[in-house]
Amino acid sequence: MVPGLHRPAYVQVDLGAIKQNIVNEMKHLAPGQKLFAVVKANAYGHGSVPVAKTALAAGASGFCVAILDEALELRRANIAAPILVLGVVPAKEAPIAAANGISLTAPSAEWLAAAKEQLAQKAETFKLKVHLGVDSGMGRIGANTDEEFLAMEKLVVDNSCFDFEGVFTHFASADSSDDRYFKKQAAKFKHMVGLLHTRPKWIHCDNTAASIFDKDLPSDLVRFGIGIYGLNPSSTPTTADLPSSIPLKPALSVESELTMVKTIHAGDGVGYGSTFVAERDTIIGTVPVGYADGWVRGFQGFKVKVGDKYCPIVGRVCMDQFMVELPEMMPAGTKVELISADPAAPNSIKKAADHLGTIHYEVACLLSDRLPRVYRN
Ligand SMILES: *Cc1c(COP(=O)(O)O)cnc(C)c1O
Repeated sequence: MVPGLHRPAYVQVDLGAIKQNIVNEMKHLAPGQKLFAVVKANAYGHGSVPVAKTALAAGASGFCVAILDEALELRRANIAAPILVLGVVPAKEAPIAAANGISLTAPSAEWLAAAKEQLAQKAETFKLKVHLGVDSGMGRIGANTDEEFLAMEKLVVDNSCFDFEGVFTHFASADSSDDRYFKKQAAKFKHMVGLLHTRPKWIHCDNTAASIFDKDLPSDLVRFGIGIYGLNPSSTPTTADLPSSIPLKPALSVESELTMVKTIHAGDGVGYGSTFVAERDTIIGTVPVGYADGWVRGFQGFKVKVGDKYCPIVGRVCMDQFMVELPEMMPAGTKVELISADPAAPNSIKKAADHLGTIHYEVACLLSDRLPRVYRN
């Protein structure tokens, strides 16, 4: 997909806000605790390389990504800091990770055995840095039982192709005010860590939520994700946000402009299926952004800011355009702010997520590569 460089529509990212969020979190870390910036999925839609460079300048010690290609993208940008891939990389790709000094998550003993085979087939031997995954209750990846976990430890310790670098788990509900399940997970992780014969460099469990809601668990590093982007991980459409112990400043806004403005008349429809039909003369503005940009059809009815007025999206969002009802004549070229970086604005990313019945993580990640990322600060 090519970015639309000749279209007035873009994602603006405030790197100053990103830096400030990380600096705030650095001050909040426990003594000796380090921060790994989670920049998976193109830094939650914000652009991985610019965000990673900003994070390094703000004091991050390393990075987490979801897939190997995201780690390689950082290496290609000359980022030499530690990088951990959080997802499962096929064992056959282990030599590429090893050669690039990229740490992989071991999801199981079976995976370690397969990775060992792959590493043995390479003439040049680089050690593969490994973090053992513990499934303390996400039901996703990692050892679920003591036996599996001990078998994994034995494989990494006994085989010189591995460098035993870490052990980690991930919480399902560190962002909830009901901490019963969280406590169950924390206890299981503590138990598993207690079984280890060898202590790796990094034993870690904190995501943004566990850190900023002060869960106070031992975690050698914080895998700081959504907080980088200035968003509260507890946000849902139906509950109040939990108070964060650090200030968070959203970094992302989405901007465009009206490409056409016209008056339609009683009985005229707008968009596919004519879900909006004018009852009287109505001023309609067209915005050149659609679901191919990640601006999904669920945004019908959401109000975006046109000039200084909040105007509802009428008719269905098309693939590449949507229409708004304007309260007065405005010229083509008038600025349209689809998402505001101001958390108090009616078109904040949280409000956009609430409108869709989802979370802001999803709204940010959906913004497609067709929208260029523009950086300021
Ligand atoms: C995505 C992810 C994180 C970061 O989570 P946030 O809620 O964005 O802080 C941390 N750890 C793992 C394993 C993840 O997948």
